[in-house]
Amino acid sequence: MNDALTYPSDSDLRRLLRFEPDSGAIWLGERRMLLLHTAALAALRQDLIRSVGGEHARRLLTRMGYACGLHDAGFARQTRGGKGLEDMFLVGPQLHMLEGAARVTPVRLKADIEAGQFDGAFRWDDSWEAHAHRTAFGIADEPSCWTLLGYASGYTSAFMGRLILFKETHCAACGDEHCLIEGRPIDEWPDGDAHRHYFEDDSLLDTIDALSQQVEALKTTLSPPVSGGMLVGQSPAFRAAHELMRRAAATQVTVLLTGETGVGKERFARALHAHSDRAQGPFVAVNCAALPTELIEAELFGVEKGAFTGAHASRAGRFERADGGTLFLDEVGDLPLPAQAKLLRVLQDGEIERLGAETGRQVNVRLVAATNVDLLGAVERGLFRRDLLYRLNVYPICIPPLRERIGDIEALAGHLLTRFTAVHNKRLAGFGDRALQTLLHHDWPGNVRELENLVERGVILAPQGGFVEAEHLFPNQPTPPHDSPDGQGRLARQSSDSELALCERILESRTPIAELEAMVLNLAVERSAGNLAGAARLLGMTRAQLAYRLKRNQPGSGDDD
Ligand SMILES: [Zn+2]
Repeated sequence: MNDALTYPSDSDLRRLLRFEPDSGAIWLGERRMLLLHTAALAALRQDLIRSVGGEHARRLLTRMGYACGLHDAGFARQTRGGKGLEDMFLVGPQLHMLEGAARVTPVRLKADIEAGQFDGAFRWDDSWEAHAHRTAFGIADEPSCWTLLGYASGYTSAFMGRLILFKETHCAACGDEHCLIEGRPIDEWPDGDAHRHYFEDDSLLDTIDALSQQVEALKTTLSPPVSGGMLVGQSPAFRAAHELMRRAAATQVTVLLTGETGVGKERFARALHAHSDRAQGPFVAVNCAALPTELIEAELFGVEKGAFTGAHASRAGRFERADGGTLFLDEVGDLPLPAQAKLLRVLQDGEIERLGAETGRQVNVRLVAATNVDLLGAVERGLFRRDLLYRLNVYPICIPPLRERIGDIEALAGHLLTRFTAVHNKRLAGFGDRALQTLLHHDWPGNVRELENLVERGVILAPQGGFVEAEHLFPNQPTPPHDSPDGQGRLARQSSDSELALCERILESRTPIAELEAMVLNLAVERSAGNLAGAARLLGMTRAQLAYRLKRNQPGSGDDD
């Protein structure tokens, strides 16, 4: 302990402080300050720790304290430029006290700016931050005066012109009687480098990004098992595809799933995984179209630290995460050519190379790729490698569109109804008859996914305990006048009195039936804003039927009966 270390008067510092309530400002010299409740800052600190975790909160708070210290260092020369080095340095601890951080007692101070030497120790009593931490979290395992410590490092680093790292060796937050800090140049600490990141730009976004990818991977792994009846269907087209899938599952063959958007390619891939001997391994799904081109290789194959600006840490790619399991590459046709070349290499050698890595690593992954575009066409346009197509196309399975599986719609809809009533906590009596008819006559451009969306919407809109009716499924489509509900809210499909009356009026009007039909068709098209599928729905016919009739009714079509 250095007996000579006593504070000079701080009247020079107090003079810097000016309250200007008229202009709504507080000044310390030329710097605007803020009088803040410690309780408010403590609450912010607590929220920060809870939301981003202790390690990131520590970094953010250290950097905040560091900025305060950095700015206060300017006052050292400004107020005590003519005094000795010690008095000049003590501006920091004295300002820190004036600002209310803690009572600071110098224990040891050896500083030589020209030689770049610094060795200091200070004791803190009554640190606001130790108090805040203990109040919020109880006795801490680690010293927790992060803003204060950041201040000491920031102040001293600016004062010395080199990075001086302070560490807290005792802390009241840990139950010690007081806090004790020691500081020296960062490279003189054996573990100095490990502390450097507390002063650097926060890479919280990188971490969040990596975490969200892990969550995504977990979600795909934890999705409902195939036994939950994910693949529903008995129609011949569907059963043929299903049988192909089951046979592939027993092998390690690379599978290419083709079919329109929304036919359920990922479900098939999951089912394949679940039926295979890799079922206990991970199932990792990647949508190639959803990833930005510049990130796709890093995503698939991983990155070594420092491979490019922003690669702060090494990271496994999706291939590595799928090791021992199945990797599902959806919309593989959207893969850029350089990534295609790498993918080809993985398929040939079973080895992936992280970006920036010197050597490859073996992975044991079964690849299931999917596309809704014609890959051969893409090859001819130079957008897809022919050799990769041959590798992928060893075992193609074409999943039929929903309009070719009309026989499955009712079962699928029933299955989805059960699922969504559970999800949305509803009790429903089922589909109304007209709703089912509407489903059967829809032409399903969006396939099973569209059906899912419609049924979910229907479940949400249907009244508790009631039926899902057509208007719940297609709320934006005007529904044609239909029969009145029977006692249970069901729609009985039989001629009502009003329909009979309508027919009688038509007969009386002596309008030719063809003209009448043309009028009704045109009205339906008009009401659906030109959307033939919508108009067909209003008329209770398929889009093809409507298109045929419209064409037939056109003057000069020569197709008249
Ligand atoms: Zn402390």
